[in-house]
Amino acid sequence: MSITIQELRRKVSATFPEKTAESWDNPGLLLGRGNACVSRVLTALELTPDVLSEAIAFKADLILTHHPFIFKPLKSLTDDTAEGRMLLELAENHIALMAAHTNLDCAPDAIIRRLSEDLKLSGCRPFLPHRPYEAYKIVVFVPHDAVDAVAAAMHEAGAGSVGAYSDVSFRVSGLGKFTCGADSHPAIGTPGSAETVEEYRLEMVVSGRDLRAVTQALIKAHPYEEPAYDVFELRSEVRGMTDLYGFGVSGTLPEAVRLSAFIQHLKGLWDIPVVRFAGDPEKLVRRVAILNGSGAKYLPSTDRDVDAYITGDCGHHDFDNAVRRGVVLIDAGHYDTEKFIPEILADLVASMGVDVMVAHAMRNPMQVM
Ligand SMILES: [Zn+2]
Repeated sequence: MSITIQELRRKVSATFPEKTAESWDNPGLLLGRGNACVSRVLTALELTPDVLSEAIAFKADLILTHHPFIFKPLKSLTDDTAEGRMLLELAENHIALMAAHTNLDCAPDAIIRRLSEDLKLSGCRPFLPHRPYEAYKIVVFVPHDAVDAVAAAMHEAGAGSVGAYSDVSFRVSGLGKFTCGADSHPAIGTPGSAETVEEYRLEMVVSGRDLRAVTQALIKAHPYEEPAYDVFELRSEVRGMTDLYGFGVSGTLPEAVRLSAFIQHLKGLWDIPVVRFAGDPEKLVRRVAILNGSGAKYLPSTDRDVDAYITGDCGHHDFDNAVRRGVVLIDAGHYDTEKFIPEILADLVASMGVDVMVAHAMRNPMQVM
């Protein structure tokens, strides 16, 4: 079965909403045509030359990765750089590139679930909870014949999404009254005269992230010189907008274990060749926090009741900091805490009925011996 890239992106975003990603991140479609067809997908942690070769051999139409290959703005796209050569090769082979990064990290049903289930954690809660956006209600008063165009422009800019429902709005008819100023250029009425116009009160919810774009779209689509609109901050929960997302997870192990045994357990569980840590190997560990990827800087966020914090990319000063704080810090590796993500992406793509494979060429770029 094949679907368009646009459709596949929409389905990925329904599970891992792009708008929940961190502001510095760059998830979504990075290379490709939205209306191109996708019948084969390769998933990987990141795009590497080997993954690219495998995608060509697999005749993939799309590579879906966790880490976005295009992260900083490109100034040029030429064969002068390694990145440019890879992107050109992708384009020449009609292979699109898409990423689900921090929008996947913070989703409740993805990597967090995998890690907590593997560790058999109970009493789980997000390690770094976040509500991605505030919810607002935007209300605009529109003459009858323009209401559909204004509503469409607002939806297009992101307003009116509630959970799995899109284009959600409410409208009620009433009378708008105004007097046109001598210097005005009214769409309805004449300068200096009082007017009464049948208008709709059109309202929809909008997230803080989209509020500016929606307001601009509303003003652009509205026929009036001075459109009347109000924005209200909502205290109510709007599904998909104010849900509690979070990075990492903290929870309780089935029983207290010595740190040395816990580390051996981790190595076997996730097939990790080397684990670096700071802490007394004899210390008993029961409550743990884990943050996949690169999380050393969040060590100060560990609660007092957390015995051990597991993450990746820890350096000398992070271990030093952990010793000072009396918290066990375990570096289980950026790669080894995220290598399951391509399976999660592949499961999602398979659920769309599209042929998908996890890249065999995927490997930890950091080797140990
Ligand atoms: Zn990562």
